[in-house]
Amino acid sequence: MPDKIKMDTPLVEMDGDEMTRVIWANVKELLIEPFVELRTEYYDLALPERERTKDEVTIRAAEAVKEHGVGVKCATITPNDERVKEYGLTQMYKSPNGTIRALLGGTVFRAPILAKGIVPYIPTWKKPITIARHAYGDIYKNTETTAPEGATAELIIADANGVETRRLIHRFAAEDGANSPTSGVVQGIYNTDESIAAFARACMDYAVSTRQDLWFGTKDTISKIYDRRFRDIFQKIYDAEYEGRFKAAGIEYFYTLIDDLVARVIRSEGGFIWACKNYDGDVMSDMVATAYGSLAMMSSVLVSPDGFYEYEAAHGTVQRHYIKHQNGEPTSTNSVATIYAWAGALTKRGELDHLPKLLDFGQRLKLACVKTIESGVMTGDLYALSRAERKQKVDTETFLIEAAEHLHAFN
Ligand code: NAP
Ligand code: MG
Repeated sequence: MPDKIKMDTPLVEMDGDEMTRVIWANVKELLIEPFVELRTEYYDLALPERERTKDEVTIRAAEAVKEHGVGVKCATITPNDERVKEYGLTQMYKSPNGTIRALLGGTVFRAPILAKGIVPYIPTWKKPITIARHAYGDIYKNTETTAPEGATAELIIADANGVETRRLIHRFAAEDGANSPTSGVVQGIYNTDESIAAFARACMDYAVSTRQDLWFGTKDTISKIYDRRFRDIFQKIYDAEYEGRFKAAGIEYFYTLIDDLVARVIRSEGGFIWACKNYDGDVMSDMVATAYGSLAMMSSVLVSPDGFYEYEAAHGTVQRHYIKHQNGEPTSTNSVATIYAWAGALTKRGELDHLPKLLDFGQRLKLACVKTIESGVMTGDLYALSRAERKQKVDTETFLIEAAEHLHAFN
């Protein structure tokens, strides 16, 4: 067996919860540590540790990504009422992904992982659709409140001199006796020109570097100031900085209304980058991932404008499978997205530190997953979809062992 591959800079390793935590340890043991002298700075983002540190650990992990440049994160629980009871939490902690995104800023790129034999639900889709999600602001940083009957809601902007401008949002009151007074809800959201511009540049750089068209859509016919600002900033940056580079790469920037865009996406062949506002990206990435086969066949990376990278799986902690695992039953959980997160992080570390062996290893790790599936060995989610002639549904660990065999065979 050849010597293990050396690393210079540690990866920021963020462990997580439930089934994905089980997979995390197995991936390291079976697929990485036999080949790489792994160096990581470890942060445990599992819910008990977030409770113990009052979520300080999440912030420290994000700071570490800023220090070292590359992180890899396991799926984590975002607590709701049930989780607060289950874990005896003193607070309903925010989503760790939300906290990390708010600290790093940037754009999340999500691309489906294609393997022969796994056919998308949309038969026209031949190539991957990469979703670029603006990971800043909008409803993820909202301020919301209930409005009691009879309340008046206003938007107030005070400029640097304290001069106020007011806009009526809604009067929760009967008008001309036609309606009875009613209570309701109000929310305030924001974004910044700086963040929108960084989003535009991240998408355009990615389009040029991967030679794929860039599509973007918002609801600017209805949201004539908020969404319109996104459209205008994209266009201005494209005209001033990217038009020549897009032409040279033989690619296009295409803007249309979001409704029209979703219709075109369905009819397309794929093979482009779809820039999405924060909420659109959240929702559409799950739809696109599922349509390509499985939530677990999606890679995800947060690229910050300052050049930091955070790799993760796009799915959650797969609680239903974890309950089975705890009861001693076999599980068939797909680990591909978690393996891709590690592979992406190691590849990027190899690239930044000029370690070609590490970079190659990251690529081989991805190939080992695809080869395993293409040889007919797969977890239950893919088994249901696969058109492979001789296919075999295996448990969580067997898939990893098979992928490790492919990796050994490459060496
Ligand atoms: P989920 O963990 O993504 O799982 C939903 C369902 O999708 C599973 O029950 C399973 O379907 C299928 N699935 C997802 N990943 C799979 C995999 N790797 N292999 C096979 N099947 C897979 O979503 P959830 O159940 O809504 O959320 C569970 C927890 O994850 C929540 O506490 C949530 O807060 C958290 N979450 C975290 C992240 C993150 O950290 N990035 C993202 C989303 C959710 P079947 O049961 O039908 O097999
Ligand atoms: Mg989501």
